[in-house]
Amino acid sequence: GRKFIVGGNWKCNGTSEEVKKIVSTLNAAEVPSEDVVEVVVSPPFVFLPIVKSILRPDFHVAAQNCWVKKGGAYTGEVSAEMLVNLSIPWVILGHSERRALLAESNEFVGSKVAYALSQGLKVIACVGETLEQREAGSTLDVVAAQTKAIAEQIADWTNVVLAYEPVWAIGTGKVATPDQAQEVFAASTRIMYGGSVNGGNCRELAAKPDLDGFLVGGASLKPEFIDIIKSAE
Ligand code: 13P
Repeated sequence: GRKFIVGGNWKCNGTSEEVKKIVSTLNAAEVPSEDVVEVVVSPPFVFLPIVKSILRPDFHVAAQNCWVKKGGAYTGEVSAEMLVNLSIPWVILGHSERRALLAESNEFVGSKVAYALSQGLKVIACVGETLEQREAGSTLDVVAAQTKAIAEQIADWTNVVLAYEPVWAIGTGKVATPDQAQEVFAASTRIMYGGSVNGGNCRELAAKPDLDGFLVGGASLKPEFIDIIKSAE
């Protein structure tokens, strides 16, 4: 079967002191073994090295983004090669905040996924519709177009996990119902759900057979992230 995966996307939050505190809470937690649940935390770039150096060895780190091709004259960007150089195994690509605020297109995200994979990174690729799109009945079309733009540029999905994050559920407290989440999930690639996941709602969602994990924002900064990890069991 597909192994459960729980990601903590810390977004653009935290001081070095806060980050160390979150890591020490995670390090002290009793959670199911790595065979049962894969745990990946994603600090901002500047904190990646420190988090990687102090994080328990059964948890892994992800970058929140990387550049679309080989590094060079791209001021302010971080390349996939650099992540590989620091042994960062994972990268989150295509988060809706970057799609919306930084105008990342489906094709651009597809290219990023392809390049990151070519360098040996594992990718959490985010897809999801806005409230307007859901209300217009185009949820499945939107998610299909986002996924197709990735599929057109990669042949092998082994190192890709899709994160379905409806934009209207992110940071809003409005979690998708398990049936709304299940409706979008497919058969072979692992699919995580993201959007207002917390310690209270994770178990009901985790019970859905096509859901293979969570990508957690706000609650990943809090001790309840441990309860979410435990929902794998
Ligand atoms: P919240 O869990 O804060 O809604 O964020 C979800 C998310 O965007 C994770 O990538």
